[in-house]
Amino acid sequence: MEEDKRVLLHVCCGPCSTSSILRLLEEGYKPVLFYSDSNIYPESEFIKREGELKKVASLHSLDVIVDEYDHEAWREKVKGLECEKEGGARCPVCFRYNLERTCRKAKELGIPYFTTTLTVSRFKPSKVIFAIGRDYPGFLEIDFKKKGGFEKSVRLSKEMGLYRQEYCGCEFSLRKENG
Ligand code: SF4
Repeated sequence: MEEDKRVLLHVCCGPCSTSSILRLLEEGYKPVLFYSDSNIYPESEFIKREGELKKVASLHSLDVIVDEYDHEAWREKVKGLECEKEGGARCPVCFRYNLERTCRKAKELGIPYFTTTLTVSRFKPSKVIFAIGRDYPGFLEIDFKKKGGFEKSVRLSKEMGLYRQEYCGCEFSLRKENG
């Protein structure tokens, strides 16, 4: 019997999806895109990033499953960590929030694997993301920033004219000290 190579790819934004989708396809996986990012603030930004992701998805004739946007629930999870800088203690909680939802969705859809585009970012340590992912069955440890993945995502996004946000996502990453 042929191995089921479907993987639910948690996607944080269109630009990061570009090189990640290519890498999965090159490695023989069949990606299903899952846009689950209640960390993004405000909602208009969530919608904007969704639109950019759909442009990338249509290039590969892939569908995008859009999760419910529930920023209030996400805020509850990071309660007490609002003052942390980007890269501090709030971020692993945020990663876990999205990975847990992705694992649950993969299970619901009968998709054997899941992973995340979060590892594309040079600001997000893949080691931390992997350590969290290991708590969930079906997680694939793929470091998308490796093999030139980050640089490729920048180049492809430029070529496609994609909107590339200047902050990570939540309202706390909008603060001046985080650039
Ligand atoms: S800075 Fe980014 S990773 Fe960290 S909590 Fe905010 S949205 Fe999540």
